[in-house]
Amino acid sequence: MNTIAENIAAIRREIDEAARLCGKTGADITLVAATKMNDAERVREAVEAGIDACGENRVQELMEKYEQGAYEGAPLHFIGTLQTNKVKYIVGKVQLIQSVNSLKLAAEISKCAIKHGIVQDILVEINIGGEESKSGADEADAFELVENISKLPGVHVRGLMTIPPISDDEETQKRFFTKMKQLFVDIEAKKYDNISMEFLSMGMSGDYRNAILCGANMVRVGTGIFGARHYV
Ligand SMILES: *Cc1c(COP(=O)(O)O)cnc(C)c1O
Repeated sequence: MNTIAENIAAIRREIDEAARLCGKTGADITLVAATKMNDAERVREAVEAGIDACGENRVQELMEKYEQGAYEGAPLHFIGTLQTNKVKYIVGKVQLIQSVNSLKLAAEISKCAIKHGIVQDILVEINIGGEESKSGADEADAFELVENISKLPGVHVRGLMTIPPISDDEETQKRFFTKMKQLFVDIEAKKYDNISMEFLSMGMSGDYRNAILCGANMVRVGTGIFGARHYV
């Protein structure tokens, strides 16, 4: 079995290769290690090997590992479903909340950020496949949602995130990624105040290459770095 550092090195090479096919380099792509279900020691190993950020899914798990110093040396992102009543535990701890899917959630983040005297960077999560089981905002509501969030003090929208429908078919993968890229470009063209469309976060272990080819500049990789997760 490869070490975490070896896995990261191999992923970096693939990222660089995909980036070069669209006129970028690997340095243009932010590699977020999806750290769920990996303990502090393994997360530290990934940080030392050189990832650009850690992405955690659950508030409880984040707080435990945060106390253990797991993320020291790397920015920390929240990438999972976030309940409004848990917002207070992560604002001020995380550099980026990638999974903001409603105005209500953004308003709570705004409130907490003001209390902390900070501006919280966020991404707006879009349910690009329109799946019942996914938590992002509907594509049809994206413009209105981004515009409304842009008016809140204490939050700054810095891009979009998505988890598209799982598919082994590369054309299907690319169709959803391309749809997201178009939405990203269209929202950017609106030039809303107080938002900057910098990050398009899409692509996981099975499809990050295609995501990059379709315009992603932030990918979230778990299994590819840490190996299969063991659900108990
Ligand atoms: C777990 C997770 C990932 C990474 O998934 P892998 O297939 O293990 O790479 C990416 N994004 C989110 C939101 C996740 O929950």
